[in-house]
Amino acid sequence: MTEQIHYKITPADPHAHLFRVVLTIQKPDTQGQRLQMPAWIPGSYMIRDFAKNLVSLKANSQGRALRSHRVDKSTWRIEPCNGVLIVEYDVYAWDVSVRTAHLDQTHAYFNGTSVFLAVVGQEHLPCVVDIQNAPIEEARHWRVATTLKEKTAERYGFGLYQAENYDDLIDHPVEIAEFTLGQFEACGIPHEIVLSGKHYADVDRICDDLKKICEYQINLFGQPAPMARYLFLTWVVGNGYGGLEHRDSTSLICNRSDLPGKGQTGYSEEYQTFLGLCSHEYFHTWNVKRIKPAAFLPYKLDKETHTELLWAFEGITSYYDDLVLHKAGLITENDYLKLIGKTFTRLQRNLGRKKQTVTDSSFDAWTKFYKQDENAINAIVSYYAKGSQIALGLDLLLRKCSQGKVSLDHLMRYLWENFGKVAKGVENQDIQSAAKSLCPEGAEELENYFATVLYSVEDYDYQSLFAEFGIELKVRARQNLNDAGGNPIDKPKPVHNVGVTIADDARGAKVTSVINQSCACEAGLSAGDVIIAIDSIQVNKSNFEQVLGYHAVGEEVTVHAFRDDLLMTFKLKLEESPADTVYFTVKDEERLKQWLSC
Ligand code: ZN
Repeated sequence: MTEQIHYKITPADPHAHLFRVVLTIQKPDTQGQRLQMPAWIPGSYMIRDFAKNLVSLKANSQGRALRSHRVDKSTWRIEPCNGVLIVEYDVYAWDVSVRTAHLDQTHAYFNGTSVFLAVVGQEHLPCVVDIQNAPIEEARHWRVATTLKEKTAERYGFGLYQAENYDDLIDHPVEIAEFTLGQFEACGIPHEIVLSGKHYADVDRICDDLKKICEYQINLFGQPAPMARYLFLTWVVGNGYGGLEHRDSTSLICNRSDLPGKGQTGYSEEYQTFLGLCSHEYFHTWNVKRIKPAAFLPYKLDKETHTELLWAFEGITSYYDDLVLHKAGLITENDYLKLIGKTFTRLQRNLGRKKQTVTDSSFDAWTKFYKQDENAINAIVSYYAKGSQIALGLDLLLRKCSQGKVSLDHLMRYLWENFGKVAKGVENQDIQSAAKSLCPEGAEELENYFATVLYSVEDYDYQSLFAEFGIELKVRARQNLNDAGGNPIDKPKPVHNVGVTIADDARGAKVTSVINQSCACEAGLSAGDVIIAIDSIQVNKSNFEQVLGYHAVGEEVTVHAFRDDLLMTFKLKLEESPADTVYFTVKDEERLKQWLSC
């Protein structure tokens, strides 16, 4: 072994969920080598302190044990030595998430940020990773799926892989399991999807659909694609959802029931959700993995790295994820309009949009969006939902002002050419300046748009913009707790709005949040209260709406609830549900084509 930095990782004890890592450093710092674990993983903006899962670190050189000293919560300093330094440690891996690591007798999964200590001062050096199999009978058919470059290992095999530097090392998650492999080409680039976990999916069908999504996006940014190979790592579970973007791959968690079975045709809402997730993470291959906020060049992994720009990196990506499903020919125009109706509905119901700007939401992602509490609905706005609304409006504005000559696609290509390709970081004003320079005839309107949607909490009036493209935004009252919007209802009935969200509880219906200024808020109900009766009738989550339905709008009802162990009585004056549920109707197909067909 002559490489300067060499990691050997083994899923050594699947039952105890422990990876064993051996790190060998040929030329350690003679002052005492520092080793550091990242505090967060790029793409997920929360401090997670991965060092907390590190168990029993030991160091030696030429057979002599060395002492390690703690520097801070994520850093160790090893006693100086003259020869090769060998550091051994275990990492506890028992988190069902795409952001960390997970190990048991069914599979091994890890992100480099969870398992590889950085060699401080030598992060720029290439390194080698020896990936070994678990020493258990169940692992005899396991293979390795990762976009780490093979050194001497064969594709999907155990053995030696390599990375250009530490930043590269931690951007290729690894799945080791007995998995299903699907392969396809998109614009000449080999793509793979790996499905691990128990599933009944038609992988050929999924490959056909992904191919259309990938080719559409590669052509949107322009060939050639920036990666030599791309991998969708998919962990199929009973109930889960999530994705994290990487430069040449993505890690996904999805529900077993989201994937189409053999012989199944059509695009169920669940399958649309899965394809939307794939489309989202794939779009990040350009937008955030290569076109990056200046603050992320390079990533500073020891502390929060704030940026105002997540509205663009997550929001524009969220706009395109579903749009591409339609434009690539997978889902119908109607399906697509329904999806954006749901996004608009989520925002309409979110009072926090009137309190927090989207740029503040981006900046405070670390402490607010990623740490949502019961008051989040009142206090914060999602930079995903509002960001995608902003991107949609920007796309339509550019098309309108340039009379169809410029769209958001042009802006994305501009960002790719002028920032992504040349590794130049995007500053706060760059996207706005680019939009105005691509569409000078719309400069004033664009300026006003950005001022409203990015820096104020005022609602922008999208109605006239939609009218230009032949659709009308309509609102109606929510019909029940499951009504997510997006669709018209034949005869919407007036329903009451209590202003709470609820969850199951052994004693009744537990209030999980209370919307400011609602009748529940006026009456003094609070998050955590367990409602046990409405007008003396016992309630739980499943009959809550039914029991409420016995009463008319305007009526005052008595609600009994426990706060801790104290029984309290509340008087709720039932109000009518506001028209906060959005859907779209098509007025002019030809005009709509100016947006959805070009
Ligand atoms: Zn994203």
